[in-house]
Amino acid sequence: RQEERLQKVLARAGVASRRHAEEIILQGRVQVNEEVVQALGTKVVPTDRIVVDGLPLQLPQKEYAYYLLHKPTGYITSVIDPQGRKTVMDLMKTIPQRVYPVGRLDYDTSGLLLLTNDGDLAHRLMHPSYGVEKTYRVEVGEKIPEQVLKRLEKGVILEDGKTAPARVKEVSQKGRGSVPTYEITIHEGRNRQVRRMFKTIGFPLITLKRIRFGSLQLDHNLAPGAFRALSQTEIRQLR
Ligand code: URA
Repeated sequence: RQEERLQKVLARAGVASRRHAEEIILQGRVQVNEEVVQALGTKVVPTDRIVVDGLPLQLPQKEYAYYLLHKPTGYITSVIDPQGRKTVMDLMKTIPQRVYPVGRLDYDTSGLLLLTNDGDLAHRLMHPSYGVEKTYRVEVGEKIPEQVLKRLEKGVILEDGKTAPARVKEVSQKGRGSVPTYEITIHEGRNRQVRRMFKTIGFPLITLKRIRFGSLQLDHNLAPGAFRALSQTEIRQLR
């Protein structure tokens, strides 16, 4: 699969246009693994040592891609689903790169999901010691008393242990009929953690949406299912 025609590789490395690269090959100026190659159909793989006019070929660095997706509910955050449910990859079919989700959001959770092919960065951001802060906006059935919120902030005991301190604030809209809404910021990432935290204090969630991931914010005008590339500044801040 990784085989490519030599002239194509030369062109991608910026040696020459593909046409001109063919001439360079015919002129006997290209070596592959210490042998001069003059056949135009020659295929090479990434581990082959290619030399042009005596100089080793410098292949360009892999182009990294970073996208911010507004994940809708009803999609899973893996690349394939054995049960055949829709995955976030179904929403990203138009992009040329192969990117992967950084972390997970539940099937019934919406909000900010970062996708990238920058494996080092993804690894770091997912590592517990890095402690990326994530903010979730949650809706519950009724207003949560102040002292109960304090329990969430201090840490509650779940089956897999006590949660680290969190920040919680009420952001309900004013007026009658408004849904009690809170924002909670945590830096752990246990499975279904936010849902379990609220359930433990007796307030199961109606909705759960991630609005922040580290330095990244979910845009107000990015509709569920839509995505955009990160800006250079956003990429720099994440690194
Ligand atoms: N916490 C949850 O319970 N679910 C998510 O999707 C993310 C955080």
